[in-house]
Amino acid sequence: MERSLHDRDRVGVQDSVLLDNYRSDEAFLENLRKRFKENIIYTYIGNVLVSVNPYKQLPIYGQKTIEEYRNTHLIENPPHVYAITEAAYTSLIEEGCDQCILISGESGSGKTEASKKVLEYIAAVTDQRGQVQPVKEKLLQCNPVLEAFGNAKTTRNDNSSRFGKYMDIEFNNLGDPVGGNILNYLLEKSRVVSQSVGERNFHIFYQLLEGAEQELMDTLHLTRNVGYYNYISKAGKGSGDGMHDAQRMKEVCNAMTILGLTAREQGEILAIVASVLHLGNIDVTEEQGLAVLDNFAHIFAAAELLGCPENVLRSSLTHKTILARGDIVTTPLDKETAVYARDALAKAVYDRLFSWLVQRFNKSLQPQRKSRNRLMGILDIYGFEIFRHNSFEQFCINYCNEKLQQVFIKLTLQSEQEEYLKEGIEWEPVEYFDNNIIINLIEEKHKGIIPLLDEECLRPGETSDLTFLEKISEQLTQHKHFIDHKKADNKTKKKMSREEFVLVHYAGEVTYDVNGFLDKNNDLLFRDLREMMSSTTNTIARVLFPKSELESKKRPETAITQFKNSLNQLMSILMSKEPSYIRCIKPNDFKQAGVFSDDIIDHQVKYLGLMENLRVRRAGFAYRRHYEQFLQRYKSLCPRTWPKYEGTAKEGVRVLIQHLGYQPDEYRLGATKIFIRHAKTLFEIEDAFQSK
Ligand code: ATP
Ligand code: MG
Repeated sequence: MERSLHDRDRVGVQDSVLLDNYRSDEAFLENLRKRFKENIIYTYIGNVLVSVNPYKQLPIYGQKTIEEYRNTHLIENPPHVYAITEAAYTSLIEEGCDQCILISGESGSGKTEASKKVLEYIAAVTDQRGQVQPVKEKLLQCNPVLEAFGNAKTTRNDNSSRFGKYMDIEFNNLGDPVGGNILNYLLEKSRVVSQSVGERNFHIFYQLLEGAEQELMDTLHLTRNVGYYNYISKAGKGSGDGMHDAQRMKEVCNAMTILGLTAREQGEILAIVASVLHLGNIDVTEEQGLAVLDNFAHIFAAAELLGCPENVLRSSLTHKTILARGDIVTTPLDKETAVYARDALAKAVYDRLFSWLVQRFNKSLQPQRKSRNRLMGILDIYGFEIFRHNSFEQFCINYCNEKLQQVFIKLTLQSEQEEYLKEGIEWEPVEYFDNNIIINLIEEKHKGIIPLLDEECLRPGETSDLTFLEKISEQLTQHKHFIDHKKADNKTKKKMSREEFVLVHYAGEVTYDVNGFLDKNNDLLFRDLREMMSSTTNTIARVLFPKSELESKKRPETAITQFKNSLNQLMSILMSKEPSYIRCIKPNDFKQAGVFSDDIIDHQVKYLGLMENLRVRRAGFAYRRHYEQFLQRYKSLCPRTWPKYEGTAKEGVRVLIQHLGYQPDEYRLGATKIFIRHAKTLFEIEDAFQSK
């Protein structure tokens, strides 16, 4: 374990604010490197925790460590995710402030693991009297199920979250968890029907095939052969090494039971999962230009599991019915459209099942008594993605990261500087890049990429992905964060085709291929299939496709607009809370322990804005308190302020700190608050107060 300053050469400094050469990227990196080599993965920038994924189990978690962090201040112990959680929890209990813990970083950097440690800490330190045990148990059991259905093996991460998750834990006034609520964001549903080479579909498919009892396999008409099923084996090796699929299946079922899902519900859920596998094995061939389905066994099995007549499934997959001016017109589909319809059904069923699960858990996590409870939110959402080939999904994910960066800027960089200004404290402004300009490029009314995309989706038949590209090129060509083929310099041109555009994100340039944008945004499922689903006998499948949706005259919102609205809602939730940050860093591209790749880490440090964060922090004052609060708490430490100071609180504080011998550089007196440069100064006075 880390010991104070004389270890500095070996293990660096635990708070980067203490670096002599704090402006230098290299010094910052060097500090992380030193620590990483010593298996110290956590470092602070003030109260922001930086975490470098060790890719190996370290003996730094568990009950004993939790006890070391319980009831301590941030600086009393080495940096840790437990320390951040402890600080947030204390603020929630003592000051009654709602909290949120924002975990960010790219795929494989350790966000989900960190979020689990936060939850583990909360579960361990609360409810010493054992009164809310079932609630805690439920909160902990959501993860294995959500991971089974929402995570998958990718080239970057064997357990990559393919959805965004925000989880609120509700605490009563004793500080014990009494409930929770989860919001889920945009599952990457294209994965249900195809994956890139070397990647897998969502874990649950393999877990089911490897881990289900034979009786269940028979009921679901499944065989254990992963390679037999098209949707899960096309991308190469299906059941991965070291994925423990069979074992996980047992844990998932157990977790569902703890969460209160009945045997019937579990049966229906797994039937839906199995039906997706069968759908994938329905072959579509062509006769005289029209689609013909093959492989009856799978049509029968899918129909049975979803609970619809087999002939209805068959005709819904090969026909399209439209209501045109009161007339019902049914036309047969060609092969390509039938394949599209089949895949769209599989994706929709799975995607809606995932959201249903979240809703079902929320029902189970509802607190018994609704009173004014305090909330702690944990955000674990997909990090920035730059792939060789980027599509609509990456566009959504990266847009989301731009929004989160805005929250970070607003809550740390901007608000920090605004406060100094407001309090009249002398201050040398720190430059930082405000990414609002990119957010506008994406979402501005009538002009941004999202409204233009939605507009193209409104005119089916006349538009295509390429007309969309033309349109944004025309509108946005002047924008300095937008590059199309025409505008690109030779170097960029070489890398991009005429069907691509580049966005200069705050985290770097990303080239997007427009193919599929309109289709994915429209998210179309033919009426015949929706109608069929709305009257299935699998009750869960049925509620996934409510009749009201069919009757509604309103055009459903596009995928990107729904996403935009849910993100904006998330932003206001986050902005209303006191934030803590965990910034996760991936040390190398090989999922390997002990390898610290400088340029990969340097890149992440840059785009996470850690250097700006450090400069603002260093230039500023780490702690601040209102004069009244400060005086009230510490007045007993000075005879002239005890028991009561007769003048203003500000003067009282001046008298108090003079008595305590504060040096002029250690503090500033603002309009309403005292600002203290280092945490250490505050903790000395706090200790003096405690020991009195
Ligand atoms: P994604 O955005 O793809 O969901 P992520 O940031 O959530 O990625 P994780 O799934 O949390 O990444 O971490 C990836 C893997 O790295 C884990 O499965 C685990 O093997 C390892 N890992 C992450 N954090 C730690 C840690 N603190 N200790 C040990 N191993 C870790
Ligand atoms: Mg994750």
